[in-house]
Amino acid sequence: MSLFIDVHCHLDFQGIVERIDEVIENAKKAGLKRIVTSGINPETNKLILEISKKDPELIKPSFGLYPMDALEREGIENKFDVDLELESWIKNKEKFISIGEVGLDYKNGKDKEMQKQVFEKILETAKKLDKAVIIHSRKAELDALDILESSGHKKVIMHCFSGRKHLVKRAYDLGYSFSIPTNVVRLQQFQEMVQEIDINHLFCETDAPFLSPFKEKRNEPAFVVESYKKIAEIKNLTLEEVEKNIWMNYQNLLS
Ligand SMILES: [Zn+2]
Repeated sequence: MSLFIDVHCHLDFQGIVERIDEVIENAKKAGLKRIVTSGINPETNKLILEISKKDPELIKPSFGLYPMDALEREGIENKFDVDLELESWIKNKEKFISIGEVGLDYKNGKDKEMQKQVFEKILETAKKLDKAVIIHSRKAELDALDILESSGHKKVIMHCFSGRKHLVKRAYDLGYSFSIPTNVVRLQQFQEMVQEIDINHLFCETDAPFLSPFKEKRNEPAFVVESYKKIAEIKNLTLEEVEKNIWMNYQNLLS
């Protein structure tokens, strides 16, 4: 029996949502047991909650708040009350499995102070709820790690982390985990990360509909198997061993 998990994707995004039933069917056929789908604002948090009802055992919603000013740059709904949203997370804590994606984005967002303040508040909530956080950081790896470390929260998964080697090491030393995206099949940086990080701190993700392992196809959760295969190859383990290990990591951090 397969135990594949896609720990980070966006089932509500264009490119997936319009063929959601087919995407879910493909994932099941590929042997996926869990798909963690992330929201990025109050509106998408509602959407993923609805989508998860299609198969509550398979699809687990993760509530997120992407840096507001970065959303604005991309033309996505970005006017919301952070405090109200966090309050509703506390009230509805049994409805979602983890918190993310959250973090810092200095490429698309410019208001660093505002981003940091919101990130700190979110981590406080995550700690209170004892839920894992799925972290996005873009051009902000050092600040993200500083804030994470001072939050004292330990249940941390760095999603698609592209910080330099010493930052990877620092996150690892803090006990954080890393999710390896499917484009690891061609990106040396993630292959090196797999080499350096213990299997007990690894997850796999598609970030679908982005980061496809196949140049001609849009990404979807079924393709997460490509990350598993690459980890097995690099770590000289069987696919089954990688599946079992990551399943245990999931049990430890997300359930
Ligand atoms: Zn994402």
